[in-house]
Amino acid sequence: MSICLICTHPAEQSRTACTRCEHRVRGWLGEIPRQLVLLAASLELGTRPAQGFGGAGRAHSPLPVRGDVLTLLGPAAPGPVRDTTGDQSGPQPVHAVLHAWADQLAEDLGHMLPPINPSAPYADYLARHLGHVVRSSWVALFHTELDDLVHRIRSVTSTEPRRRPLDAPCPACQAFALGRVDWETYAACEACGLLLTPDEYETHRAAVMPPLARIGVLIAATQHLTQEAS
Ligand SMILES: [Zn+2]
Ligand SMILES: [Zn+2]
Repeated sequence: MSICLICTHPAEQSRTACTRCEHRVRGWLGEIPRQLVLLAASLELGTRPAQGFGGAGRAHSPLPVRGDVLTLLGPAAPGPVRDTTGDQSGPQPVHAVLHAWADQLAEDLGHMLPPINPSAPYADYLARHLGHVVRSSWVALFHTELDDLVHRIRSVTSTEPRRRPLDAPCPACQAFALGRVDWETYAACEACGLLLTPDEYETHRAAVMPPLARIGVLIAATQHLTQEAS
């Protein structure tokens, strides 16, 4: 066993981050391109979008361009921008953070950095090679910077993924603690950390929920009879 450099829980051999931390990072990499759209709207309108995607926009009086949004949307520096040693101070633009880590990743993998995809600046590239990232020595610093970035973005857009509780109990620990966060690929148990793919969850749910529903009906009927009798 190894130790996860992010959360210090056990990780599989040869990994420097556990599957749960990998899951969180993958969620952020999926979230950032979606948030960039909202960030751009926050800058151009001088306002913040109504809560959530697809919500009705509220009219605000125009405000000056927001400095915090401008910083986040700022371009990456041209040329090499490697700053994966964590010694640069001050908030970095989204592109600069992702570009620097993508640059580090490309060097590790020994290939040229692919051309930037403007709608998902290197988030897609980093997500595609996350299997390498979770075995790298720099995964903890990458996680810290991404965490900071995502929280700065969310504070501007007032939008964050919601966690939806799932009704079936966890197959590993039996707790009713399974849930799925928007844009994340797995259902996760908050009690024991188990991850299930959507298919795994649906199969599990189909197997356990009908018997549970029958028990629920029996309990309700018994309570009803007890109340009748008293
Ligand atoms: Zn971890
Ligand atoms: Zn569990």
